[in-house]
Amino acid sequence: MDQSKIDALRARPVAAFDHLIDGRHVAASDGGRMEIISPIDGTVLTTVAAGTPADMEAAIASARAAFDDGRWAGQPPAARKKVLLKWADLIEVNALELAVLGVRDNGTEISMALKAEPLSAAATIRYYAEALDKIYGEIAPTPGNILGMIYKEPVGVVGAIIPWNFPLMIGAWKLGPALAVGNSVVLKPAETASLSLMRMADLALEAGLPPGVLNAVTGKGHVVGETLGLSMDVDVLVFTGSGMTGRRLMEYSARSNLKRVYLELGGKSPNIVFADAPDLDEAAKVTAAGIFRNAGQVCVAGSRLLVEDAIHDDFVAAVVKVSEAMRVGDPLRIDTQIGAVNSEAQLQANLAFVDTATREGGRVVMGGSRVLQDTGGYYMAPTIVTGVTRDATLAQKEVFGPVLGVTSFATEEEAISLANSTVFGLAGAAWTSNLSRAHHMVKSVRTGVMHINTYGGADGTVPLGGVGQSGNGSDKSLHAIEKYVNLKTAWIKL
Ligand code: ADP
Repeated sequence: MDQSKIDALRARPVAAFDHLIDGRHVAASDGGRMEIISPIDGTVLTTVAAGTPADMEAAIASARAAFDDGRWAGQPPAARKKVLLKWADLIEVNALELAVLGVRDNGTEISMALKAEPLSAAATIRYYAEALDKIYGEIAPTPGNILGMIYKEPVGVVGAIIPWNFPLMIGAWKLGPALAVGNSVVLKPAETASLSLMRMADLALEAGLPPGVLNAVTGKGHVVGETLGLSMDVDVLVFTGSGMTGRRLMEYSARSNLKRVYLELGGKSPNIVFADAPDLDEAAKVTAAGIFRNAGQVCVAGSRLLVEDAIHDDFVAAVVKVSEAMRVGDPLRIDTQIGAVNSEAQLQANLAFVDTATREGGRVVMGGSRVLQDTGGYYMAPTIVTGVTRDATLAQKEVFGPVLGVTSFATEEEAISLANSTVFGLAGAAWTSNLSRAHHMVKSVRTGVMHINTYGGADGTVPLGGVGQSGNGSDKSLHAIEKYVNLKTAWIKL
């Protein structure tokens, strides 16, 4: 990465963004616009169209027409593959530009964003492009006078509501499989992270995706997101975001056409460190990165550190030491390890969690406050709170910020019981040299992904999905495709 290239890109003014509907850029039907504030310094970066319900209806109608006339679903798999591969190439060619635009919008440190955003999105699109002509139907084991066939058909119109922490990566997790199997998609980016995703959508058209197959509408969740959720013409809704919005989407489905709803929600993921961990220094380093990168705004963040009594004080000291060395600040500097918090509101919510934790008996051993306020941006010191009890707010509620709660345990059974004591089940980790214990932890911790002797970094070959109130359905891997197809049976009497 080259700092001077990044600086040149950040100096560019950002043009205003309109919706992408039916292959054209269109303004909101009432002309409304929304200011985009950069979390780096609190200044207005640009504006986007403030979508109206009518805008969203137009996008859905365009997607429906594109699906029904087969301009994409009807193309031979090899042709769809070619377009998606080209799109992945274009994302890669424009990776730095996309990453810098995204960082100016959402505040993720560039050292993480370049890889985690455009480069990850390109890899995901490529993965599903390569997979799409390797998906077969089935012939059922029927009696000889019957032919039972099982087709995998695209569902039709997919609504995808995307969060602000990793818009390109998570956007691609939905777009890749949905488009690969022939669906049309209506995208709804998050209010505070629309820009890079809108730009990535443009690149799809440049790659040859027919107009109308991918439409994108910016605006407020409770306006255009609600219209998408309540639409009678959307077949599947996929979402990553908060539990509260996830619940709403299920209600929208129930109140409209019973569309399938797949949710990837939050977590309160336990990172469990046993005294027999193979390398406690490595564990401390990865623990700090696992909660503090992207200022903790990561759904799988290891936000609960569970440490065995015998090593508690030493291990916490080691995590504090590593965390103190992490540079918080301007996310467009390549040596920054913890960028900006996404918005003022999010920062205030994070600080309120620290207050509550203190009131409930926790001890702030590091951080706890806002920093770099003179920049005009939204920054928070990495924060570590010890003495967090099983039922404390900090042990039970997702912060989605750079706040690590620490709880000690005496036995493996206690660690498992603490790990499973929330309504969530997204990610987790155990650090141990004992092979049997490692497998026992994988089996016993109720979660979508369990890491052993590492945290994070799982690539696109494995699914990511939550259990409990962390959601349903999976992103990534071939399993994600199941969300975007219907199984159709042909029962043929010979
Ligand atoms: P957060 O609280 O972290 O911003 P949200 O779940 O509110 O997370 O946001 C994730 C996505 O959901 C965003 O794209 C947002 O616009 C969208 N959203 C928010 N509220 C609604 C809603 N009522 N209906 C549909 N989408 C919504």
